[in-house]
Amino acid sequence: MTETVKPIVAVVGRPNVGKSTLVNRILGRREAVVRDTPGVTRDRVSYDANWNGREFVLVDTGGWISDAKGMAAQIAEQAEMAIATADAVLFVVDATVGTLDEDEAVVRVLRRSKKPVVLAANKVDDQRHEAMAATMWNLGLGEPHPVSGMHGRGSGDLLDALLDALPEAPRESEDEDEGPLRVAIVGKPNVGKSSLLNKLAAQQRVVVSDISGTTVDPVDEIVEVGGQVYRLIDTAGIRRRVKEASGHEYYASLRTQAAIERSEVCIMVVDASEPITDQDLRILGSIEESGRALVIAFNKWDLTDEERRRYLDREIERDLIAWKWAPTVNISALTGRNVDKLSKAIETARVGWETRVSTGKLNAFLGRLAAAHPHPLRGGKQPRILFGTQAHNCPPTFALFTSGQMDDPYKRFIERRLREDFGFEGSPVRVEIRPRA
Ligand code: GDP
Ligand code: GDP
Repeated sequence: MTETVKPIVAVVGRPNVGKSTLVNRILGRREAVVRDTPGVTRDRVSYDANWNGREFVLVDTGGWISDAKGMAAQIAEQAEMAIATADAVLFVVDATVGTLDEDEAVVRVLRRSKKPVVLAANKVDDQRHEAMAATMWNLGLGEPHPVSGMHGRGSGDLLDALLDALPEAPRESEDEDEGPLRVAIVGKPNVGKSSLLNKLAAQQRVVVSDISGTTVDPVDEIVEVGGQVYRLIDTAGIRRRVKEASGHEYYASLRTQAAIERSEVCIMVVDASEPITDQDLRILGSIEESGRALVIAFNKWDLTDEERRRYLDREIERDLIAWKWAPTVNISALTGRNVDKLSKAIETARVGWETRVSTGKLNAFLGRLAAAHPHPLRGGKQPRILFGTQAHNCPPTFALFTSGQMDDPYKRFIERRLREDFGFEGSPVRVEIRPRA
């Protein structure tokens, strides 16, 4: 799994310099630019872009201007916003008009910032206009790149300059190594972890050395479940049964935490024949906090009768509601019932955990959501979502750039709606609000 964070490029400039035209050019699209009502959050302001295989997010700030204040002040404010949220700024000026007060307002903001700026002198449709572009050196933002958003002239060079200005290529996440999915079996003592491990290991037909790219920690085991190969984390810890040792509880919880940290997917084993306890909930909380994918296995199903199952349903509704997104399997480690089905649940959780939502789809979703259910007023103001991007997967993490702080209930509401639209079954989902400063 590679976890990449796409850099964000904000396109700023006063109205009519050709920002939208240039954005469409960069995206390689010809369709007409949708004109939006000023002051209304557009449902699409950011787009996934790509140049020479390098991915980035392009933010068209054109729609953010409201008609409340003077033009120059608004444009400056818009640039500040862009600076707060972007990794680099593409500043567009109109070479056929020269620089106006409104341009200068943006320049002042840009100068104060430490963000890299690439200057595009737009509407240079032919060579005759190049001299005009050169006068833009006087903005003090470095080389003006002559470009024609309309005809495409110079746009390749501009994009090269833009990529040079971006921070280093996205890094790979520090995975231990390639190889099978890392799965941890966790749960409080006596729920059946080692019984489950033995059952899984007994079905094993895989020889470790057959799996390429695998260096198996001696405490881990490679097992096959339902045709899928997994690396079970810290099986030595499960097998070692030092239950009488003093301080056992403490060391057990340390081990559990370490196993969670090393895993990608956790199988949380719960004893279905006994009431759910606080200790179960604490471990579930750790898994979620660590951002791991989750499958809940209700074990000892063979010991449950109809009455107990009714109680269990109620306990699940009451205590496990916060982890409703996790796939569940009712198993018996003793008889082997449904143990094979764990692999399907693990796959579901893995897919949910790795899900990526494109910036376009995400912003279309956010636009619909904000239109139907705007954030309640806060001190007379309405915090708005300006745009969003998925900053990470594993687990899916969304950064929402907003015009003000948002309440926790609204964040949870967004998370719920994200799940309804995009799934993420078996995975925690994170929503981070980044109000513009
Ligand atoms: P924005 O308000 O900055 O997003 O500007 P638009 O992209 O809407 O463009 C404003 C006007 O400038 C439109 O009439 C465009 O057709 C025109 N325009 C944009 N780019 C160019 C260009 O490269 N050359 C010429 N001649 N006109 C352009
Ligand atoms: P651990 O402490 O979580 O590793 O739990 P163990 O695997 O040692 O199991 C604790 C006890 O529960 C043992 O006596 C097991 O035989 C029993 N046990 C585990 N799984 C099952 C099951 O599915 N059904 C029944 N009836 N007993 C089980």
